[in-house]
Amino acid sequence: MDQLEEILERMRNHSTNSCRNAETPESSRDSDVCPLCNGDEWILVKKDGIERAVPCKCRERAVMSRRLRFADIPEAFRGMDLKTFRMDVYRNPDSKKKVSDACKIIKTYLDDFEKQKEQGMGLFIWSRTKGSGKTRIAAGIANELMKSYAVKFAVSLTILQEIKNTWRKDAEYSESRLLDALSTADVLIIDDFGVECPADWINDKLYQIINERYINRKVTIFTSNESLETLQYDDRVTNRIKERTYQIAFPEESVRDHIAERHKEEMIEKVMKGRNNG
Ligand SMILES: [Zn+2]
Repeated sequence: MDQLEEILERMRNHSTNSCRNAETPESSRDSDVCPLCNGDEWILVKKDGIERAVPCKCRERAVMSRRLRFADIPEAFRGMDLKTFRMDVYRNPDSKKKVSDACKIIKTYLDDFEKQKEQGMGLFIWSRTKGSGKTRIAAGIANELMKSYAVKFAVSLTILQEIKNTWRKDAEYSESRLLDALSTADVLIIDDFGVECPADWINDKLYQIINERYINRKVTIFTSNESLETLQYDDRVTNRIKERTYQIAFPEESVRDHIAERHKEEMIEKVMKGRNNG
């Protein structure tokens, strides 16, 4: 069985194993203004004739999202849409096959996301080559899921840096709060996983986050320049990931330059067309 068939088969199994009813997706985007408090995060409640301010239901999520404000889609990928993900920029036949399989798997996954989410199944998108489109596709997935879920997107190194920042005396929040916020986000996308050298503290913190997400069946999506087999982390980290992700091999071809070239060509075409029409 090749990658495509194998993963689709695994997805079907996860779909049918589901015993709970699909939950209705909460409206949980950060940008949504809460209708109860108009975004104040506090509401007035009258008790025994006395009015007092109590935290609104939305407050907890808002606080968490502020804690994770570093976890946003990078500016360059904000508008990335899966529908406009370009498969035609890959030139090697092997790349074309790989990217087409990868996109089929991702589409099936997203179409079935409610069920996959119940099972806590995420994705592990990898290829050794930088610029092969992994971050672009991950951003596209993030933008798609953001329509219905609280999605956090962070570069692996940034997460570790943020953890380190909490060790400072003047830190804004504690390490445990940060880890808690990372552990409870509906969907966490970790970009460029596995570039940092695997010091003991890194293994420990990553395990804490990943294990907590594992226990609570939270969806985690990774991009990496390593396969799960060559990742330098503890087995306890990689085993958790192995169990809860579909591993998707991305092409070993950098398309960064091809995309820039293609954009230039299209620009020229547009200009030429404009000239012919005008
Ligand atoms: Zn509210």
